[in-house]
Parts: sequence; C-alpha cells; structure tokens
Amino acid sequence: MYLEDVTIQGFKSFSENTDMSFKSGISVIIGNNGVGKSNILDAIVWVLGENSLERIRCYDRRELFFAGSNGHPPAESIRVELNFKKEESDDTPAFQFAREMTRDGQSRYLFQNERIDRQAYEEQLKALRMRQTLKTIIRQEQINDILLVNPKERFHIIQSFLGLTSAPEDKTDFCQSLEEVVAPLFTRYMSYLSPLSEVRFDLNALNSENEFDLEITLPGNRVRRAHQLSGGEKAITSLALKLALFHQLQSPLYLLDEVEPALDYINHKSMQAFLKDVASDKQLIMITHLRSTIDLADTLHGVRTRFDGSSFMKFYFVMDERLLKLYKCC
Ligand code: ATP
Ligand code: MG
Repeated sequence: MYLEDVTIQGFKSFSENTDMSFKSGISVIIGNNGVGKSNILDAIVWVLGENSLERIRCYDRRELFFAGSNGHPPAESIRVELNFKKEESDDTPAFQFAREMTRDGQSRYLFQNERIDRQAYEEQLKALRMRQTLKTIIRQEQINDILLVNPKERFHIIQSFLGLTSAPEDKTDFCQSLEEVVAPLFTRYMSYLSPLSEVRFDLNALNSENEFDLEITLPGNRVRRAHQLSGGEKAITSLALKLALFHQLQSPLYLLDEVEPALDYINHKSMQAFLKDVASDKQLIMITHLRSTIDLADTLHGVRTRFDGSSFMKFYFVMDERLLKLYKCC
C-alpha cells in the first residue's frame, strides 16, 4: 500500500487546489524556508485523523484555514484528499480518503467520495494499515525529543506511543517487544549511521523503576548515556530509535521532515545507505535541503510561494537516470 496522490485546498498556506503525485519509493519535497513544505505533512496527517491541533502546529482551529492575502481571500473551507493504492499499476483499486472542514467547525469525513462517520472512517484507515501513519512522522523541531527527556519519562512516552498501558501484562509485552524487535532493528540502523559505535538498551522495566535508557559506546571506548551525547550524535541515535519504534506500528508510510540537518558530511553518506534500507519496504515522503537525500528521490517536488505568500507546486519530476544526471550537473 502506498500514498499515490494528495490534493490540498484551503489548508494553511495552500490557497488554491494543489495536487501532488508520489511513487511507492522515496519522494522528496524541496523548497526554500517558509514555502509550505511542512504544511504538506500537516495536511496529510490531518486527513489521517489527527485531532490534536498542537501536533499540526496550531493553537486554534482557525489557523488551519488559509488566512488570506492581497491576491486571495481567506479560505471558507478546507478539503484535503489522499489516494492510496496497493501497487503501482493502473488496474489496482484505489482508496480515497478526504477530510473537509468549514469555518463554523463543521467536519466531514469521506471514504470513496461517500460521507461516513469518524468511527467508520478510522476503521477504513485501519483496514489499510494507515491508521498509525499519523504517528510515523518525524518533525523537524522534534528530532531529538525522545532523548531529551529523562529515562522515566522516556519509558512512558514509548509505552503510550506503542498504544500500551502500564498494566502488568502490557508491561511484559512492552519489554518483550523492545528487547526482541526494537533493539535488533535499532542496532542495525545504528550500524549505518554510526558504524563504529556499540549500542545497548538499558531497560530497567522489570523492576519497579520503569525507566528506559540507552548506553552508547563511541569509538575509543567512550561510554555515554543518551542525554550525554552531542547534538549530532543525539540526532543519529534518535532517528534510529524512532524508526525502529515505527516498525512496531506496521504503517507502510513514513513522513520525515528535515531529519538530517545536524549530521556532518560523512554521516550524509551513511544516511543514504540507511534510508535505502528503510525504503526497501516502506514508502518515504521526505522534506530535505540536502543534495545527498535528493539523489535518492524517485519523485522530486518543488514547492514555491507566490508573491502573496501562498504555496504552489513549481515542479514535479519522476526521477530517472537521465534526469538525475541533468540535475547533478546543474
Ligand atoms: P522550513 O524549510 O523553514 O521548515 P517550510 O517550507 O517547512 O519551511 P512551513 O512551516 O510548511 O514552511 O510553512 C510556513 C509558512 O506557512 C509560513 O510562511 C506561514 O506564514 C504560512 N502559513 C501557516 N499557516 C498559514 C495559514 N493559515 N494561512 C496562510 N499561511 C500560513
Ligand atoms: Mg518545515
């Protein structure tokens, strides 16, 4: 299953109907600061059912509507539509989800162009394994958040991220999945991003402490706890940990918003190998300013703003060998 197409109208900086098509591999969105790239990811998770305004970077519902400019009146309604497909062939069925809202707060959920209630809508998303995709997003402002909290808080954040409670049976499941699935995947991802490091989960969960910490042995036998890592080391570790946790949610789509800015040039290279590994069985929609990430794109989308600040798609390429060469020599 992959997200084939997004249409956005009236949402945040998108005043006019804007359409974006993706391929099942890696799609890369580029554009200058403030052109509306992150707003696209907000629009996607909104249709996937996100109800927390804070998680789509708003304080007030009215901020979801295009605010108006010299060239365009404020939006009176929003419509965002997502089309999913099982495979990239014309004869596979498509699944259309849309969410609409009017300024007076009326909300509508549509599946295959028919209005349904929120619960039925969530059931349809669940059936396509897309319900959890609103969690498989890494925001540019929150790359390191999971390592900045103390081990107790981290334990509870991860527990609720995985949809588990603190009941004893859930706690056993939690520890088991961390040790048996998340830890090996995290170690594999870290082997790309920090090949000379050794990592160990310190899971103090089976006693009453309920703490979760990481111990990283950096080259030269320097043992560090998560909070002692540098900014770049934190970014690498946090990215590997989050993506290992995402795997537990089984969503086919990950949304990554500028996850590489803290990495040095050498790490850009290992980042490419890492992203290729992740994309072998997941669709990635990534926002980036980095050339090394753009080189991985199956589709490339350029966002710009009009004179009045509203966003539009300036270009869209399906990257093939020739285009990639052309792009590299420009
Ligand atoms: P960066 O590369 O700096 O992260 P970005 O392309 O991700 O930039 P976004 O955060 O997506 O930028 O978009 C921010 C822009 O969207 C700002 O210019 C902001 O003014 C505009 N914006 C946000 N909400 C609205 C709204 N309701 N109406 C009109 N414009 C809006
Ligand atoms: Mg952004």
